[in-house]
Amino acid sequence: MVLDRLRRTAPTKDPKKIPDGLWIKCPSCAKTVFKRLVEERLDTCPECNHHFRMPATRRIDSLIDAGTWTEWDADLTSGDPLGFVDGKPYPERIAQQQAKTGLKDAVLTGSGKLSGHAIGLGVMDFDFNGGSMGSVVGEKLTRMIERSTAARMPAIIINASGGARMQEGAISLMQMTKTSAALARHAEKRLPYISVLTNPTMAGVMASFASLGDVIIAEPKALIGFTGARVIQETIKQELPEGFQTSEFLMKHGQLDLIVTRQDLKAELARLVGYLTEHNA
Ligand SMILES: [Zn+2]
Repeated sequence: MVLDRLRRTAPTKDPKKIPDGLWIKCPSCAKTVFKRLVEERLDTCPECNHHFRMPATRRIDSLIDAGTWTEWDADLTSGDPLGFVDGKPYPERIAQQQAKTGLKDAVLTGSGKLSGHAIGLGVMDFDFNGGSMGSVVGEKLTRMIERSTAARMPAIIINASGGARMQEGAISLMQMTKTSAALARHAEKRLPYISVLTNPTMAGVMASFASLGDVIIAEPKALIGFTGARVIQETIKQELPEGFQTSEFLMKHGQLDLIVTRQDLKAELARLVGYLTEHNA
């Protein structure tokens, strides 16, 4: 059923996403590669291992044991508290994003088994309005964390976001504290939370739940940070080091625990969950 929702008919011009067609050109190594092979490798390039953006539904399929997924709060959608118009009214923008992605908002949450371990999982989808965090993303993730706490399960979030959703203003920023408070209560019960940073994980998401993992994992070459490089450079009036907002740079400077290639992510998460819950029983 999840697979049915993956079929996207609209052609894409976004080079970071897998475009339609039998063959595609990798934006990283510029080689032409067979699309099916890319998909078999969980949306990575067979030539250079470039990680394409992965839709949330495919991510869930790649991590959760077949037939064990239960989605939570599937119908939660956003209101328009500010009556926000930026070129078009916010409800219209949301409707457009829903039609484009087949999702109700920028995150899917639920529970399932990861190599036999029961977990709570939240997966963000960058294709839905840049994975921006508004009230629905914050509420769904908070409920996922709270249910994981109640069921004494580890919680895992796969992040992909440009940050807070500007159309919801301060309500969007409040999601940072709400999710962080839920994670603090989860930690008080000595239950693990693992954060996975994918390309990109930025701003208000990086400044809250994405950086609060007991273990923080990133995919290779992901863009991770708070503010964009140009803004920082203009503010501090200094040259920034090459690639300073990449997984590899952050790993070198002690801000990440692991960089894990997508093909190994499920096995690595299973290993960590096994280790962290064994000592916790
Ligand atoms: Zn490539």
